[in-house]
Amino acid sequence: MKYEFDTADQLLKLCKKHKCSISEIAKRYEAERSGKAISTVRSGMKRARDVMYEAVKEGVKSTKKSKFNLSGGDANKLFQSLSSLKLMMGNKVTVRAMAYAIAVGETNANMGRIVAFPTAGGAGVIPGALFSCAEHFKAGKRQLLRGMFTSSAIGIIIAEGATLSAAKGGCQAEVGAATAMAAAGLTEMRGGTPEQCFHSAAIALKSYLGLACDPLGGLVEVPCIKRNALGAVAAISASDMVIAGIESKVPFDEVVKAMNDIAESMSERIRETALGGLAITKTGNKVKKKLGLKITKEL
Ligand code: SF4
Repeated sequence: MKYEFDTADQLLKLCKKHKCSISEIAKRYEAERSGKAISTVRSGMKRARDVMYEAVKEGVKSTKKSKFNLSGGDANKLFQSLSSLKLMMGNKVTVRAMAYAIAVGETNANMGRIVAFPTAGGAGVIPGALFSCAEHFKAGKRQLLRGMFTSSAIGIIIAEGATLSAAKGGCQAEVGAATAMAAAGLTEMRGGTPEQCFHSAAIALKSYLGLACDPLGGLVEVPCIKRNALGAVAAISASDMVIAGIESKVPFDEVVKAMNDIAESMSERIRETALGGLAITKTGNKVKKKLGLKITKEL
């Protein structure tokens, strides 16, 4: 295939050869792989963007608690705080990014519709970072789509070289991957070069290597939802560093190799089994009890 890529190196070569951005190659690759027209691929991404918007809108309005009372209403609290920002340490962009990221997680916990981009557990990071920054820059819908296509290209490279599965790689594969994807997408939206997009993704992913997947009761709520909020802010920070001229010392492809190595050496207890970390704290075990799950150990 003309536009196929498995690594950042290959993708950068394609960008150079065709004199275009990462988002453009990602779009052409998807059209080639699926046998669909470019316009159909773009429409598919627009639908994803619209579903994300709905999840954000629903989440920031809602104060409903989830079935086991582990989440709900936090996106609304943050969103309300935007009107009195002097109480906050963050600025409008980061507070809004956190609100949007949490909104998606809460919508998911309340059985609403979300886009698993790249997974349900990490689904809040990309809309959180990209939508909030798009509002800040007054970016058009096309610019936002470009960011999403670039994010998807980063996801493909992580899936090829490591994993997007928490059962294989812990939370570095969910929130970590989503943060890298968002950072690169955001950098392209800001007019960054393909190289800068990969520096952003590398800086973001390096900070999440080794992150445990240890959800309370095995539910995708705690710590997942708030991790998404911090992932969105980390993605914005990584992009800011790169726009300021900072580069990642370790190239993205090497970071992905490191992620894979760490995934292979992670204990099964912290890979989506709810048998380690936060899941076996006193609080974690209370949740397990509520759910009728077996308690094996308490920290
Ligand atoms: S802790 Fe586990 S379930 Fe929660 S977001 Fe991370 S990988 Fe997903």
